[in-house]
Amino acid sequence: MRLSFLGPPGAGKGTQAQRVSARWRIPHLSTGEMLRAAIRAQTPLGQEVQGFMRAGNLVPDALVIRMLRERLEQPDIRPGFLLDGFPRTVVQAEALETFAPLDRVLYFDIPEAELLDRLAGRLSCPVCGRVYNLRSNPPRSPGVCDDDGTPLLQRPDDRPEAVRVRLSVYHQETAPVLAYYRARDLVESVPATGSVEEVYQRILRALGGAPPGRSEEAL
Ligand code: ADP
Ligand code: AMP
Repeated sequence: MRLSFLGPPGAGKGTQAQRVSARWRIPHLSTGEMLRAAIRAQTPLGQEVQGFMRAGNLVPDALVIRMLRERLEQPDIRPGFLLDGFPRTVVQAEALETFAPLDRVLYFDIPEAELLDRLAGRLSCPVCGRVYNLRSNPPRSPGVCDDDGTPLLQRPDDRPEAVRVRLSVYHQETAPVLAYYRARDLVESVPATGSVEEVYQRILRALGGAPPGRSEEAL
């Protein structure tokens, strides 16, 4: 299965991708997370992209396409992969078509007011990338990651100024990607409101049920 989750920032793609990738046993490839890891490690790529990301702008196509293409050369993607946050432009979708064409796209459909609310409360672990929400999904102890005890941070691009930029970039650059895949009949729309569990159940249905013989113990 070669799947991508498409939708605006804050729609819950990363939250659901963690579950779906565990259930289907395919790697969850978040280009945002890969870029944040490059920034944390202060690699040349990280230094090049941090200004774009902090402001809420997209990273240039050539950089992100090369990064993903290299990742897709790893042998662990043989059973498939789940992309989260890629492609975000039609140029990226066209490039992906040449080296790893998708067979399904799930579109996370959600009203903008709900996004603002979710992003305002998002906290992330800067070490493992796990995502929390102050209201809907708080950590067990306030302010620290359940998994590794690291103090949680607000992403710099979840500040209101950067969120405004990201939503406008989404409408201009990423919404046409939805039309690109709709024209190829690859898109399933999933209403992304409701609880994490409700959305997950809709995703299972959209994917035609859970894979046989694989149960929740994979989570
Ligand atoms: P995306 O990857 O699409 O940007 P995230 O998965 O990071 O979105 O989710 C954005 C925020 O919303 C996070 O704080 C997350 O905990 C929270 N969240 C995700 N799914 C839901 C949901 N169904 N209901 C309420 N909050 C949610
Ligand atoms: P995300 O974690 O998916 O919300 O992405 C965070 C940020 O990383 C985005 O606002 C962009 O700056 C950058 N980014 C992630 N994926 C891409 C992509 N496919 N193309 C360009 N920029 C990206």
